[in-house]
Amino acid sequence: MSDSHPYDYEVLVIGSANADLTVRVDRRPGPGETVLGTDLVESAGGKGANQAAAAARLGARTALLARVGDDAFGQLLLEAQHAAGTELRHVLVEKGARTGTAMIVVGPDGDNTIVVSPGANARLSPADVRAAREAVAASAVVSLQLEIAPETVRTAVETATESGTRVVLNPSPAPESLDPGLLAAADPLVVNEHEAGLLSGLPDGTPTDQAHALRDRGARSVVITLGAEGALVLDTGAPVHVPGIKVEAVDTTGAGDAFTGALALRLSRGATLENAARFAVRVGAASVTRPGAQPSYPTAEELA
Ligand code: ATP
Repeated sequence: MSDSHPYDYEVLVIGSANADLTVRVDRRPGPGETVLGTDLVESAGGKGANQAAAAARLGARTALLARVGDDAFGQLLLEAQHAAGTELRHVLVEKGARTGTAMIVVGPDGDNTIVVSPGANARLSPADVRAAREAVAASAVVSLQLEIAPETVRTAVETATESGTRVVLNPSPAPESLDPGLLAAADPLVVNEHEAGLLSGLPDGTPTDQAHALRDRGARSVVITLGAEGALVLDTGAPVHVPGIKVEAVDTTGAGDAFTGALALRLSRGATLENAARFAVRVGAASVTRPGAQPSYPTAEELA
């Protein structure tokens, strides 16, 4: 740990880094069909890298533990993290490997269809996490998602728990059920409405009922993001609805990651979960006013 700060990192994200390759189409192709789209747009994405970029752009001392290949996409991702201000020493560049890639087709309604090729993300291993044990212990918050191997996420949770580091868990993409060990470490579990329905077993329940169900299943605290409606927070007291902020939404890609990175930042600085969520709702709203995931994330100055 450094002398001047109680923690080396306020936020350590352990997760995925993908190149997002996006094409817009007027009409989605059916099976066996080809359609023409717009020019390809390449941008930095992946849930882990997005959350790190969100926290770093807001001024958090942030590090990312991830794997990329030594290809052009890996370079793109490293440059984006560097520009955001993320510490890069824990990003492992693997010779001969392909960087994770998300192929995103945006339809006329603005909805995305996405195919992910995990590439180097799939090889981020429990041993990689154990090798970074000191960094985990020297972080206020570890932020985790599920775009890397389940055993790596489990090792990250164990390592963080051993060192008393707070775990923010965003179980996305949502599995059908969540390992009880992961749930028990989540403080908070951050889910969107779809994930809340799936993991609570109450797909038609209200967010309040879903949050209570998720806590009954073991989560220490729960945040459900509600898109334009803001978020629902369940900590030690009664559930609190944090209202959304009215903005003109241009592109919601990566809004959930902006929210989670911002939440982790505020928690690392000792905010209550409710206050951290109020800040994160502002950051999420700001992110939907600009296109792309990482390029849309605000700095602290822009937010002010
Ligand atoms: P995505 O998958 O697009 O990254 P998500 O489904 O994980 O998003 P959402 O609940 O849609 O997450 O959004 C996360 C946060 O972003 C919300 O809590 C809110 O703060 C903000 N947000 C999202 N959409 C809007 C919107 N249309 N207007 C204002 N804020 C929004």
